[in-house]
Amino acid sequence: MGSLTKRRIPPVLGKCTHCEQKFEMGSIYHSVLRQEGESWKREDVCSRCFKPPEDQIFWKGLFKKREGKAPTNLLDEFLETEEPIWSSFLAEVLLRKGYLKKRGRHFFEIISTGEVVEIDPTPLSLEELPHLHERLRTL
Ligand SMILES: [Zn+2]
Repeated sequence: MGSLTKRRIPPVLGKCTHCEQKFEMGSIYHSVLRQEGESWKREDVCSRCFKPPEDQIFWKGLFKKREGKAPTNLLDEFLETEEPIWSSFLAEVLLRKGYLKKRGRHFFEIISTGEVVEIDPTPLSLEELPHLHERLRTL
C-alpha cells in the first residue's frame, strides 16, 4: 500500500509502452505521468510515439545502463523515511548533490535507478531546524 507522504513510481522498462520497440543505449525516451484516481501511471515512449501531453507531467530522458542504487545512505534514508519534513529536506540535499532530478513539482527521479518518487511538498520552517539537525547526526 502506498504511503500518503511518499509514493514510488517504477523506472523505465527498456521499451516503448506504445510500439514496444526496445530503447537503444543512448537513445532518447519520453516519460509521461498520468494521474489515475489516487495513483500515477508512468509511460515511457520512444520519440516517434511521443506527443507532448497538454496537462500531464512529462520529461525527456537518455536511456542508459543503470548502475543500481547510488552508494549513499542519504538515498536509503530518503526512500525509507515517511516523515514529510525529513523527506523534503533529504530531497533538497540529494538534488544538490546530483543524485536526484526534479521532474515536476512533487516528483524526483533517482538518477541511478530511474525510479520516480513523489513526495508531499513540505516547506521547511525555522522551527524544524533543531529537529533536522538532530536527525542529521544519526546518518
Ligand atoms: Zn514507440
